[in-house]
Amino acid sequence: MNRKVFANKIILLLTAVLLALFAAGCSRRDNCGECTLVPPEENSLKIVATVFPVYDWVRNILGSNPAGAELTLLYDNGVDPHSFQPTASDIMKVSSCDLFIYVGGESDEWAEDLLQEAVNQDIRTVNLMQVLGDRAIEEEQIQTAEEKKNTEEEEPEYDEHIWLSLRNADALCDAIEEALQEADPAHTDIYKENWKEYKTKLSDLDAEYQQTIQEAELNTLLFADRFPFLYLVNDYGLDHYAAFNGCSAETEASFETIIFLAEKMNELHLPAVLVIEGSDGKIAKTIIRNTDTKDQKVLLMDSLQTASKDGDDQDRTYLSVMKENLDTIKEALTTNSGE
Ligand SMILES: [Zn+2]
Repeated sequence: MNRKVFANKIILLLTAVLLALFAAGCSRRDNCGECTLVPPEENSLKIVATVFPVYDWVRNILGSNPAGAELTLLYDNGVDPHSFQPTASDIMKVSSCDLFIYVGGESDEWAEDLLQEAVNQDIRTVNLMQVLGDRAIEEEQIQTAEEKKNTEEEEPEYDEHIWLSLRNADALCDAIEEALQEADPAHTDIYKENWKEYKTKLSDLDAEYQQTIQEAELNTLLFADRFPFLYLVNDYGLDHYAAFNGCSAETEASFETIIFLAEKMNELHLPAVLVIEGSDGKIAKTIIRNTDTKDQKVLLMDSLQTASKDGDDQDRTYLSVMKENLDTIKEALTTNSGE
C-alpha cells in the first residue's frame, strides 16, 4: 500500500513538472505548434466527474448544454474506483479542466495529491464528502463473526458510497449546480431550471422508496457480498446484515459468517439474498445451502460504482438504476407466502 502511494506521488510529481514546462513553453494555447499536450481549439468549459452517478447528475443539470461544455467521466470502462490509478492522460484531463467534481473519499486520495501539485490553480473543485459534512457516515463494523481488529489505525473511515442515498443526491446536486453557475454565469437560469426539474424527480423517487419500504412485510436486507448501501438503508431505517464491511477487498467469507447469515435467513424468513454487481454468487449459494428451506432467491443490487463508456450510458441513468434497486428491495422484503 505504501509503495503504491509512493508510486502515485512520483507520477503526480512528474506530471506536474511536465505541465510546468508546458506552461512555461507556451504562452497560451495559440502559437503552440510544437506542443501537443492540449488540443489548441478548445475553449469550451471542461468538466470532469469521477464516478458515474456524479457524471449523470451533471449531465442532467447541463440539460441541453447551452455552453457546449465538455463533460468527462473519469472512472469509465468498468474501472473499479477502489483500485483506480490515474494514468498520465487522466492527470492531464483533471489538470486542464475548469470544474472537477469528485467524491473525496478514500478512493480519491490521488485527487487530493494531484490538486495540491497542480500548476493550474484555477481549477474549480467540488469535494462531495466535504459538501456532505457531518452527514457522512462512518463505515460500520458489520456484526458478523468476522473479527476485524485493526489495532494500528483507529481513525474513522467514512463510507464513500455517498450517492446511494437520494437525499444525499439532493444536497450534492445543489452544490454541483452552484459550482456550475459560478463556472458559467451566462447560463445560470437554464441550470437552475434543469436542477429544479431534476430535484423533483429525486424527491419523487425518495417518496416512492419511503412508501414501498414502509408498506413492506419485512424490514431486513441481507447481503452475501460487500456492502456499499449503508446510506440507503440508513435513509429508510432498514435493518441489514452483510458478509463484508463497505467495499472490503476480501472475497472469502469465514464459515462462522456463512452460518451466522444462514441463521438470520431462517430466523427472519427472508426470501432473498442480495449480491452486488460483479459478484460470482458463491457466498450467496453457500448461505442458501445452509438455510432450512434452501429455496431463497439471489437478487442483484447495482451500486453504480462502475460504468461502461463515457457518454455511452444514455439509457442507464442514476434514476433508472435507483428505481431498479427499489424493485429489487421490494422483492427482497416480500415473503414467498405473500405472493
Ligand atoms: Zn465501493
